[in-house]
Amino acid sequence: MQKGFTLWFTGLSGAGKTTVSQMVAKMIREKYNRNVEILDGDVVRTNLSKGLGFSKEDRDTNILRIAFVASLLTRNGVATITAAISPYRNIRSRAREMIGNFVEIYVDCPLEVCEKRDVKGLYARARAGEIKAFTGIDDPYEPPENPEVSIKTHEESPEECAGKVINKLIEMGYLTDNN
Ligand code: ADP
Repeated sequence: MQKGFTLWFTGLSGAGKTTVSQMVAKMIREKYNRNVEILDGDVVRTNLSKGLGFSKEDRDTNILRIAFVASLLTRNGVATITAAISPYRNIRSRAREMIGNFVEIYVDCPLEVCEKRDVKGLYARARAGEIKAFTGIDDPYEPPENPEVSIKTHEESPEECAGKVINKLIEMGYLTDNN
């Protein structure tokens, strides 16, 4: 069985987690012929974590559920990708312990840029007070201190960011050309 791993993307809403993770998933499937599963934050919240809100407790529960599923996939050799804001450092380190083969990707993008992109119109609603406890506005985001990879989506293209992630996976021995 091929070695499973979890690529754990973390960053603000609109930072580029979904965009880069989908690109990375496509590359891993096509070039390395691996089974890939993405647990995207927005998708998880409509099924696995339906009904959970955005208090610290609910956010932690959401992340622990994602980590649990990721750990099952990882131990079965799947190239697993998670793309949820996952704002709290301590729960990300819990996820790291639960999963083992864990590669943390900090999707680093200044709040101003994310807010300007406002992909889903959520920042405008948060500023207007229609959404409470929005990460970066009136809820915390704790950046990783030692991520395996940092990508700056305001300075690098999505392709460059995805390439950096793939290179790290090769360097760590999770992807090999003859896979
Ligand atoms: P998130 O999943 O973190 O909420 P999304 O991937 O949904 O973020 O949105 C990121 C937005 O930023 C997209 O509209 C994407 O096209 C844009 N973008 C611009 N440059 C980049 C980059 N280098 N990497 C990723 N996304 C980028």
